[in-house]
Amino acid sequence: MADPSTPSVATPEQRTAAIEMVLRRQGVLQDGFVDSFTEHADDAWVVANGAKMVARAWTDPGFRSLMLADGIAAARDMGFEFPEHHRRFAVLENTADVHNVIVCTLCSCSAYTILGAPPAWYKDLNYRARVVRKSRTVLKEMGVELPPGTEIRVWDTTTDSRYMVLPQQPPETKGWPAEKLAKIVTQDAMIGASRLDDVKG
Ligand code: FE
Repeated sequence: MADPSTPSVATPEQRTAAIEMVLRRQGVLQDGFVDSFTEHADDAWVVANGAKMVARAWTDPGFRSLMLADGIAAARDMGFEFPEHHRRFAVLENTADVHNVIVCTLCSCSAYTILGAPPAWYKDLNYRARVVRKSRTVLKEMGVELPPGTEIRVWDTTTDSRYMVLPQQPPETKGWPAEKLAKIVTQDAMIGASRLDDVKG
């Protein structure tokens, strides 16, 4: 028998079911909405979208300029969705002297239609708290060891401002076609948790 002094905590599945039931009763949730939304997200909001944008920026100077000036216009030019409430989408260019890294200190906001659903570590309270105060240390722990002279810029995502990092193209990959380049661009690199320096030519 359960100990009556221990409060029972509903599992995430039970809480989700309870919210769904209430929304259905209120007439807010249409039948099949959750399934079709999830299916659409899995198919359309993938890491490959951002990777294709990066690969194109590396091979097409005009697109690179557009992407750095207006991320939303660049995403739409590629045919990718960009939700209306993401009012700003800034593409942050890594250089030899500057490394950009993205966080949502409040929760887990990201440019998910372009970068795919954020990884578990991005939502971790430890990452969110520490990357701001100890960015160089946290990046080192994640495998990104930066020279002392490299400036680190930490970008805090909000409801209406979303970001992606434009990594530097590994020199070994100069001359590769965009399709091949897109395959080496990782989600971590577009968040700033990798410099793609493990890529072999
Ligand atoms: Fe958030």
